[in-house]
Amino acid sequence: MTDALAARAPAASPSIPPAGVETAGPVSLVGVTRQGLAEALRGVGVPEREVRMRVGQLWHWIYHRGAASFDDMTNVGKGLRAELARRFTLDRPQVVSEQVSRDGTRKWLIRMASTGPHDRGAEIEAVYIPEADRGTLCVSSQVGCTLNCSFCHTGTQKLVRNLTTAEIVAQLMVARDRVGDWPGASRPTDGLIPDAERAVSNVVLMGMGEPLYNFENVRDAMEVVSDGEGLSLSRRRITLSTSGVVPMIPRAGEEIGSMLAISLHAVRDDLRNELVPLNKKYPIAELLEACRSYPGLSNARRITFEYVMLKGVNDSLADARELVRLLKGIPAKINLIPFNPWPGTRYECSDWERIESFSEVVFRAGYASPVRTPRGRDILAACGQLKSETEKLRARARMMAESGIGPEGLFLGSEA
Ligand code: SAH
Ligand code: SF4
Repeated sequence: MTDALAARAPAASPSIPPAGVETAGPVSLVGVTRQGLAEALRGVGVPEREVRMRVGQLWHWIYHRGAASFDDMTNVGKGLRAELARRFTLDRPQVVSEQVSRDGTRKWLIRMASTGPHDRGAEIEAVYIPEADRGTLCVSSQVGCTLNCSFCHTGTQKLVRNLTTAEIVAQLMVARDRVGDWPGASRPTDGLIPDAERAVSNVVLMGMGEPLYNFENVRDAMEVVSDGEGLSLSRRRITLSTSGVVPMIPRAGEEIGSMLAISLHAVRDDLRNELVPLNKKYPIAELLEACRSYPGLSNARRITFEYVMLKGVNDSLADARELVRLLKGIPAKINLIPFNPWPGTRYECSDWERIESFSEVVFRAGYASPVRTPRGRDILAACGQLKSETEKLRARARMMAESGIGPEGLFLGSEA
């Protein structure tokens, strides 16, 4: 754990300033925890005996109803509403652009609020992938990543900071706004929205960053997201993807309780050291041991192993056989991800025939490994029109879209 904490990126400033502290502008309460709301209420003079009840009211309006104005909160007295509006907002981070694919995949470029005079606001992308009966949102946990996996573009980005709890939650708030996923809201008609009660039914922590290097904020954000009186997303519909921060995996199981995905990508330590340098610290055997001990595993609750297909690097059929041998005894799914090339990369995506024959070996060993339809190609192809800073983020977005993130986060058309 100490390793993981030592490697944490610098935190952004907290979302709720202490009472009495003047800030540059009013702070948004969107994405804030119950504890944060309680502090905000104390800060505007709500007596201690009322705080719990008031937190419940705000919680309902913000996270169950999606209120965008304190004026909507009809059961909160006018005086308190005005006082809240003076100090706080219900602003979401700014959606700089939205692109909708022919297949309904939506990609938003989101600019977070500025954290100080020298910050224009971090920009991240979130991708929404609708299917007939579910909608999956891919969220980021950090801006950039410190881990430098050799095939990943995010790892080459210089700017790295942890997203706050509120910034992580806000990605879901933005998505629900945009797809009309609030009681009484109308859903957009310019693209597929699942024919289900919830337009956003699943969350995958597969965007930018290593979620287990921002553990507390990710944990608290998932607490907000899964709260039954608010956003109500069951923890079984949340998948956390990690490159293998072994000491934090048991804590993730105990304190987050989401589904787990492991970025494995290689079956031998020498190669994994190269692809995922964190492997030098936490080699494959230790990683798989942590997986075996992950709480609550069963055939219905499996760990997903992600495996990026790199031509001539990790895609031999011997690798496929070794993969199924390694995973023996672990309730697992295998997600083969076509490599998404980026300018300057030394890797290429495996040939399609090779991906198919690799997947055939995996399939014969008893793992579902559907050949997936790429998603959102048209809008991702068009994303060259976005600002240059976001270029770095494109690889991730395209990869997510093409890997067909689906039920329980990762499979499209699997058995789940
Ligand atoms: N940092 C975490 C979560 C974000 S990355 C992790 O590594 O698991 C989400 C997934 O995308 C990981 O499996 C990652 O290895 C994979 N990925 C990164 N770059 C990619 C690329 N260029 N093509 C395909 N998959 C990629
Ligand atoms: Fe970071 Fe994941 Fe990219 Fe590795 S693959 S550099 S851990 S975001």
